[in-house]
Amino acid sequence: MEVKGTNLISSTFNIPKFQEDLITWFEKEQRELPWRENQDPYRVWVSEIMLQQTKVDTVIPYFHRFIDQFPTLEALADADEDSVLKAWEGLGYYSRARNLQSAVREVVDVYDAKVPDNPDELGSLKGVGPYTKGAILSIAYNQPEPAVDGNVMRVLSRILLIKEDIAKVKTRKIFEQAVRELISKSNPSAFNQGLMELGALICTPKKPSCLLCPVQEHCAAFAEGIQEELPVKSKKVKQTKHAYFALILEDSNGRFVIEKRSNEGLLAQLWQFPMIDKKKVDEKHLPTYIENVFQTELESIERYEPVKHVFSHLVWNLDVMYVKLKKAVKLSENMHHVTKEEIHSYALPVSHQKIHKQILEKI
Ligand code: SF4
Repeated sequence: MEVKGTNLISSTFNIPKFQEDLITWFEKEQRELPWRENQDPYRVWVSEIMLQQTKVDTVIPYFHRFIDQFPTLEALADADEDSVLKAWEGLGYYSRARNLQSAVREVVDVYDAKVPDNPDELGSLKGVGPYTKGAILSIAYNQPEPAVDGNVMRVLSRILLIKEDIAKVKTRKIFEQAVRELISKSNPSAFNQGLMELGALICTPKKPSCLLCPVQEHCAAFAEGIQEELPVKSKKVKQTKHAYFALILEDSNGRFVIEKRSNEGLLAQLWQFPMIDKKKVDEKHLPTYIENVFQTELESIERYEPVKHVFSHLVWNLDVMYVKLKKAVKLSENMHHVTKEEIHSYALPVSHQKIHKQILEKI
């Protein structure tokens, strides 16, 4: 849907000069990043999925490892899902990895292993939202399509003095329309990347470096001295807190119990140390509870360092308990017995990697 008649850009705004200033700056100042070595749509795609909600510095080593392990669409399509999750381990938002692989499989099967350059086809792939679609089309295929994320909304809200609430989903359409009017038709790739780079390096959320800004003369917020008041963003919903016991269950043969999370929902299909909701049992009754649930016998129980993990919408507080067992646990279908070295080959969420680290250090 296009937003029409929004008068986003004033009649005095010099669009050609703005394009030129932005692109010239980008071509000179852009960071050397591994996914910028060429315009391969697969690499652009992987990088854009990894970069969602994750910083560039964090993504770089993951990107290298991922592309080494799955250098082509076919390699990723053929890989088993556990190895893809393992390569993604620590990046969070694991559904992005699963969606990427299932979309890549569709590209291999349906589009002859060529990432579609048609907006409708590309946008119908799993996990390819409007931003990723625009990024691939503009960066890899040089099409004048908007790629609007939080960064771009911040930059343009300041330049064009757009005061819509960027926390609202529908606001993105307004910015997409602004980009459609502003984007360079001769070099949309550099234009979109320039906006993204400007948001990352100069027009930062706090204290933007306006004095170094290549498009300062075009910026309405700077002219009015209100750049730090933009963008308008309403507060997020409060995160809910969840408290668990996370159990390091070790039997007399030095084997530990890990379990696979369910196929749906948060951290789906990753492995973890068993967790017990603290609403079900308090610490005093925990030993008996463990004996009953896992059909085992305890030798001792000891408290390790707690682990806290903050997701976008909730917080986990994990009380980590090291439980030495006299008798091995009766495993259910989703559980494995593993040595502490074997745990390395399972994809664990970050919070449980921290528990694994404690095992390696203390046991
Ligand atoms: Fe951002 Fe300042 Fe540049 Fe405006 S002048 S785009 S607020 S860095």
